[in-house]
Amino acid sequence: MRRTVIAGNWKMNKTMMEAELFSDSINEYDLSNTKSDQIIFAPSYMLQSLNILLKSSRIEVGCQNMHQYESGAYTGEISADMIKSIGITSILIGHSERRQYFNESDKVVNEKLLLALEKNLTPYLCIGETLEERTAGIMRSTLKNQLVKACKNVKINMANKIIIAYEPIWAIGTGCVSNAEDANIACRNIREIVAEIFDLDIARNMIILYGGSVNPSNIDEILAQSEIDGVLVGGASLDVTSYISLLK
Ligand code: PEP
Repeated sequence: MRRTVIAGNWKMNKTMMEAELFSDSINEYDLSNTKSDQIIFAPSYMLQSLNILLKSSRIEVGCQNMHQYESGAYTGEISADMIKSIGITSILIGHSERRQYFNESDKVVNEKLLLALEKNLTPYLCIGETLEERTAGIMRSTLKNQLVKACKNVKINMANKIIIAYEPIWAIGTGCVSNAEDANIACRNIREIVAEIFDLDIARNMIILYGGSVNPSNIDEILAQSEIDGVLVGGASLDVTSYISLLK
């Protein structure tokens, strides 16, 4: 049985005071009845504090990015060991904004994924096609290319730790949510590709999230899809009322 995961991605948003207000509101709610696994990928500077603030909630705190090397002269970067040393165990890898604005190549995504697995972090691997790729009918081959490259040298006994976030680039932050059936087809494609790379068992058990303009009014339809196990939510995870609606 695959778990349902509701993940938020705060990107480069929220001062510490805003995060504190968010946490105060969360802590006032009884979310013990919610069944999903819950995580917020927060900016690095606040990870430790947010972890403490949300300690009594069911919400895990994850990191949005890490460097592919263990340590060294990489000014401004954060390492896997640093993240682990403050009790963070989940990491977003290959978000399309990292690929687009920070030139993160498939090779770098692969290096980060391998390091995350080696360090026993749970990687949330983001993949997705552009609108041009979708209209050109190459969605599946684009996803396959990203997956094969990202998973190069990943040992099969490590593969079950990976969570995949399918995020069509044209749907991220645009308000253009994918049609739920189309998102389901893409996630089924991903599961088939995972079976080709690893095996059927890994594919059947892999948690696959959909991300791209998810909000409280479309989440139910998306979660009702057979191949979609959860969501990765950017904009709608910033407002506490909207985030609580997503969890509920
Ligand atoms: C994201 O940041 O991964 C994302 C899906 O953003 P949004 O929900 O705002 O489209």
